[in-house]
Amino acid sequence: MAADPVIQLESVRKSYGEGAGKTQVLRGVSLSVPRGELIALVGQSGSGKSTLLNIVGGLDKAEGGTVRVLGLDYRAAREPELARLRNAKIGFVFQAFNLLDHLTCLGNVTLPASFARGAKDVDKRGMEALGRVGLGDYAARKPSELSGGQKQRVAIARALFNRPELLLCDEPTGNLDSATGHEVIEFFKELNQKDGVTLMIVTHERRMSTIAQRVITMRDGAIVEGDLAGDEHTGGPA
Ligand code: ADP
Ligand code: MG
Repeated sequence: MAADPVIQLESVRKSYGEGAGKTQVLRGVSLSVPRGELIALVGQSGSGKSTLLNIVGGLDKAEGGTVRVLGLDYRAAREPELARLRNAKIGFVFQAFNLLDHLTCLGNVTLPASFARGAKDVDKRGMEALGRVGLGDYAARKPSELSGGQKQRVAIARALFNRPELLLCDEPTGNLDSATGHEVIEFFKELNQKDGVTLMIVTHERRMSTIAQRVITMRDGAIVEGDLAGDEHTGGPA
């Protein structure tokens, strides 16, 4: 029997606003992402990609439909359970890096540990994460001293700190020049292929589609291309 998908969405709906100003942002999105898949999410600005990603990550709530991620049904889950899932099993990478400037790189990378009581070997694990993105020598620097590509690598190290099973990335190369963006893409590819991490990446980058097992296109709050429930899909590392 196949393992449960990492992400399972059924008829997910979301709107913003009230009355005449109400906008339907997600109009019944169904999607299944098996473990070990790297899925790229593309589509015009405003099509609902970030909203969908935030709902999958538990940062935003669906209005209707079913969201199951790593075995947790979000509608049935209590907030502490959701918070634990977000912190321990899901990593986030955003276009704007979202680093704290008053902390060192190591301080930023180990930030997830401050939400988990009794975390052990915090600095050692932080150094390992920085080493993985090639920034072992930058632990004591402040983000303001780094290039954009280096900042994004610190943000990725932070996302990897808790060894997440799922990495959610919202236009991770959007603020990078193309050479630096390609390095980040290569790193995601390695994470996916060597470590079996499941990735869902919102992107405008063509090259991302060469490392993705599946590219899904959204338009006006719906998936218009790239499969609905993933039933034919069997790829990805076991
Ligand atoms: P994308 O990431 O594809 O550009 P988004 O998911 O950010 O699209 O946005 C989809 C639609 O939802 C847009 O029309 C946007 O204006 C609207 N939207 C997103 N977030 C909010 C919010 N917090 N309040 C109101 N409208 C929002
Ligand atoms: Mg967006």
